[in-house]
Amino acid sequence: MKKKKIVMFGSYVADLTGIAEHLPKAAETVFGDEFKIGPGGKGSNQAVAAHRAGADITIVTKIGRDVFGQLATDFYRKENINTEYVLVDEEKGTGVALICVDQQTGQNQILVIPGACTNFTQSDIDKIRVVLQDADILLAQFEVNMEALAQVIGIAESAGVMVVLNPAPAREISLETLQKVDIITPNEVEAEALTGVAVPDEAGAKAAADVFHSWGIPSVIITMGKQGVFVSTVEGTRMVPARLVEAVDTTGAGDAFNGGFVTGISEGMDLFAAAEFGNMVASLSVQKFGTAPSMPLREEIDKLV
Ligand code: ATP
Repeated sequence: MKKKKIVMFGSYVADLTGIAEHLPKAAETVFGDEFKIGPGGKGSNQAVAAHRAGADITIVTKIGRDVFGQLATDFYRKENINTEYVLVDEEKGTGVALICVDQQTGQNQILVIPGACTNFTQSDIDKIRVVLQDADILLAQFEVNMEALAQVIGIAESAGVMVVLNPAPAREISLETLQKVDIITPNEVEAEALTGVAVPDEAGAKAAADVFHSWGIPSVIITMGKQGVFVSTVEGTRMVPARLVEAVDTTGAGDAFNGGFVTGISEGMDLFAAAEFGNMVASLSVQKFGTAPSMPLREEIDKLV
C-alpha cells in the first residue's frame, strides 16, 4: 500500500514540569519534589504520534539555537524523524511550557512562552514551499504565528493538498483561511470558541458541525474526551465512541488522536475508520504518563481489536 505523504506545520515546545505539594501563590516560593523535561508542543506531539503509528510524515517546526532546541533534535534523531525542516531561529529561543503540578489534586498552572515557533518568516515559508506542494496532506494547528499559518494553508490548497486543521488552542482565524480547510478537528471547547455553539453533547456537536459546514468545510471531527468523537461529513454523521480504558494521564490525548487520525487518512481509510484508528492511538496514550513519549508504536495499535 502506498501511504500518502503528510507534512505537519506546527509547534515544538519543551515541557518543563515541576511537581509540588501545592501550587505557588503570587510571590510565594514552593519547594518541589520532582522535575521533568520532555518534548512537547501540539504540532510535534501530533507528528510523533503519526510517525510512531507508521505514517510518512515530515515535521516543519522552528526551534531556537539553545539547549531546548538541541533536546528537540536529539529526540527526533532517536525517533528516526527527519530534521531537515526543523528550522532554527537566530533570535528567539525554543518554545517552553513551565508546568507546575499539584501532587495532591493533579491541578496545574501552565505558562507557555512559544518563542521560535511563533516566528515563521517569509524566508522560512519560501524554504518549505516545495515540500508543502509535494505533500498529499497538510496537518496544522494554532501554536504558530497566524499570518504564516494562513500562507501555508493557502499554498497547500492551491497545490491540491488536503488540509487537516486542528484549531488548537482556540484563537481567532479568518473565514477566508477556514474555507480552505478540508477536515477540521476541534475539541468541544475549540468548536464552541469558533462557532459560538456550545458542545455539551452529540446534539451540540451536530449544531456546531453544521456551522462549520455552512462555512464550506466539508468534514468536521469534534473530539469529546472519553465520549469519543463526533464525525460529520457528506458520507454521514455519527459518534465514534472512545475505547473504554483506565486513563492515567489524558494530557496530549487530542494530539494522539490527531496523529492517529491523519495516519488513518494517509492509509486510505474513510473518515469513520480513521476516527476509530485515532481513538485507538489516543486510548493507548492516555494509559501512560507524558505527551510525545506516551504515543504508541504501530505494533501496540495493531494488537488492539
Ligand atoms: P488535550 O487537550 O488533553 O490533549 P483534547 O481536549 O484536545 O485533549 P479530548 O477530546 O479530551 O482531546 O480527547 C481526544 C481523544 O482522546 C478522544 O476523542 C478519545 O478518543 C481519547 N480520550 C480522551 N480521554 C479518554 C479517556 N478517558 N478514555 C479513553 N479515551 C480517551
